[in-house]
Amino acid sequence: MSKFFSQVLLLLLLLQASFSTAFAHSKDNEYHFTVKSGDSLSKYFYKLGLSNRLLANLLSASTQNKQLNQLNIGEKITIRLHANQRFKSLSHQSNNKAAFDVILLGTRFTNSFKQVQKKFKPLSTTVVTISNSFGYDAQKSGLSLSTINTVVEALSWRLDFNSDLHKGDRFYIVSDGSKKPIGIIYNGSNKRIEAFSHTDSRNRSRYYDRYGYTLNSSFLRAPLKYKRISSKFQLKRYHPILKTYRPHRAVDYAAVSGTPVYSTADGIVKLKGWKGALGKAIIIKHGANYTTVYAHLSKYASNLRKGKAVKKGQVIGYVGSTGRSTGAHLHYELRYKGKRKDPLSYKLPTQKKISRTELWWFRSQVNKVLASL
Ligand SMILES: [Zn+2]
Repeated sequence: MSKFFSQVLLLLLLLQASFSTAFAHSKDNEYHFTVKSGDSLSKYFYKLGLSNRLLANLLSASTQNKQLNQLNIGEKITIRLHANQRFKSLSHQSNNKAAFDVILLGTRFTNSFKQVQKKFKPLSTTVVTISNSFGYDAQKSGLSLSTINTVVEALSWRLDFNSDLHKGDRFYIVSDGSKKPIGIIYNGSNKRIEAFSHTDSRNRSRYYDRYGYTLNSSFLRAPLKYKRISSKFQLKRYHPILKTYRPHRAVDYAAVSGTPVYSTADGIVKLKGWKGALGKAIIIKHGANYTTVYAHLSKYASNLRKGKAVKKGQVIGYVGSTGRSTGAHLHYELRYKGKRKDPLSYKLPTQKKISRTELWWFRSQVNKVLASL
């Protein structure tokens, strides 16, 4: 045994010894509740003679604690009191969320997480090796259509399923038996993308990278530094060249010719070229559902290629007046599932991060998935 290791072991033994002497003799009163219809934490607190003020402080101490405002039937609550009947800690356990403790230290509440006491669910991995297309090869490997859609949706912010895949690329779909995969890993010739599912304290499941960030990017407010908005999103606009009223489902930004234009979010270039009235245009796909269009450009960024990934804020082209245009401006469109939306008011997705209190739980899940491969 290495010296370092034996020192760690000694430390652990010492810690354990100090814990058992500190806690073994304190007489804690432990109360177990299984949530029934009509139950609330205030009911339990009342039963134990704990004050509403204490409850209010506990609930407002963290976002994690707020969920205790609404208990679900079947969840388990354990409340521990000191020998003098003062509040010591609370444990919350549900079937589908990470169990956690709320501990009162002095006047402050802190949270700690522990492993859910689930029955051990063995992980199973389906490997999809690309020989044809992802959809085709995934079905051949036995994945359901809903799983295939989940995989595409989870990775499509980082991966173009049409142009990025090469023969021999591999997907690892890791399942613990629940409806959606808990791990999705793409191992390609040029890149590796990982997505791990996590259910947050508000019971929303999303896919995150191993550092706890969602794979989608946030959007910039505007795709350039502009002088003014010369035309907003409107259903009836008088067109000075065509001399008719027609919808303008875009925003026009007046700017000096040559002003750099940025991609508003991470994405993949779907089109770079002349597009009728739009003149020199760029279309970028962001994930499975969003597309942005940049038109009337004078020129493109020199490194811009169709099928290539771009980052949020990356220069993709320059303002011009090509196509059907009366002066230098950028015509910018935002599309959701193919439908044009008002870029100035549409509520766009933002990149989410797992909260600090849930992060270590998430990381241990990630390690389990990676170790199973
Ligand atoms: Zn326009």
